[in-house]
Amino acid sequence: MNRRAFLRYANLAGVAVALPSRNAFGLTDEAAKAGPHASTPAANHETPETLLLKDYRPTSIYKIPVTQIAKAKFPIIDMHSHPYAKTAAAIDEWVRNMDEVGVEKTTILTMTTGAEFDEICRKYSKYPDRFEMWCGFDFSGHDKPGFGPAAVKELERCQQAGARGVGEIHDKGKGLKSGKSDAAGMHPDDARMDALWEKCGELGMPVSLHVADPIWMYQKMDRHNDGLMNAYEWRLDNQPNIVGLLGMVDIFERTLARHRNTTFIACHFMNLDYDLARLGEVLERNPNLYADISARYAETAPIPRFASQFYARHADRLVYGTDMGVDKEMYQVTFRILESLDEHFYENEQFGYHWSLSGFGLDDAILKQVYRENVAKLLATRKV
Ligand SMILES: [Zn+2]
Repeated sequence: MNRRAFLRYANLAGVAVALPSRNAFGLTDEAAKAGPHASTPAANHETPETLLLKDYRPTSIYKIPVTQIAKAKFPIIDMHSHPYAKTAAAIDEWVRNMDEVGVEKTTILTMTTGAEFDEICRKYSKYPDRFEMWCGFDFSGHDKPGFGPAAVKELERCQQAGARGVGEIHDKGKGLKSGKSDAAGMHPDDARMDALWEKCGELGMPVSLHVADPIWMYQKMDRHNDGLMNAYEWRLDNQPNIVGLLGMVDIFERTLARHRNTTFIACHFMNLDYDLARLGEVLERNPNLYADISARYAETAPIPRFASQFYARHADRLVYGTDMGVDKEMYQVTFRILESLDEHFYENEQFGYHWSLSGFGLDDAILKQVYRENVAKLLATRKV
């Protein structure tokens, strides 16, 4: 199943509500809306005058090298995934895929607490060395006096039950969210969050925090919008009362400064994939910050030279992640982008963009750091 088919499946199965990968973006075409049996664009009826941008599926004309990478060059720890597999058989199959593509361990960001968290742990308990379970926060009562102690207590209970970190916690500008538990209007730098963040630091639990969304979603939905076909589905430009992208970046930085003893992993390049230089500055100012590269492959592959320079400069703070299901093909596309120097290839079905991608050709030393070494170091500092 490719990313799009996966998202469609997740949507139909009604399980996507808690999945940020879907919330991040994706599932944009008419076929997805129409369901699994809808045929792809009506190619037969199209003329150049009626062809829509969303149906555009160009094929590369270039006779140039095509690199097929079945397995990653070095072992991987995937820092951004979710409990996609729901049955024992599906979990077995996922482990087989991980073996084939070279993923040693996957971090499951459950976003849950309570019985829901315990149930996911139970399901994945057959493979304690292959999956790490991270819990969420329980924000109940965040808007009433006395919020804090009960949420901290539940965090400690989850840690006892096997949680090794916390995530994925979201704030797309309206307030914090952990799966179904939300705290409208309360942002990460809010004093009410202090006890939870401090406890994470004390317990040595890193936090995976997703702020904002890609820049196109905040921009005008017109012919100048570079990511229009994805942005329109998840538009934020029509929501005037949310904190904007850079406002969320500032909130994240204030949180990092306030809780130096807690390690944070910014999901998806902190959504600064369009301004990696700025992310570099944020990383340099904040030693307790890492960034995961999940679900932003198609957004960085159009700028392969700038992106690979960024990787070289910050290789010690970037960690591999997927956030795009469990398919072998999905993993393999990420390897092609990170490892190869292939140019001008399309992965429209995986990512839903009209543009072509190019590989970064990262050095072995950088690959080793991003695939595994940084995470191994980060996880080794845990006290649990
Ligand atoms: Zn995610």
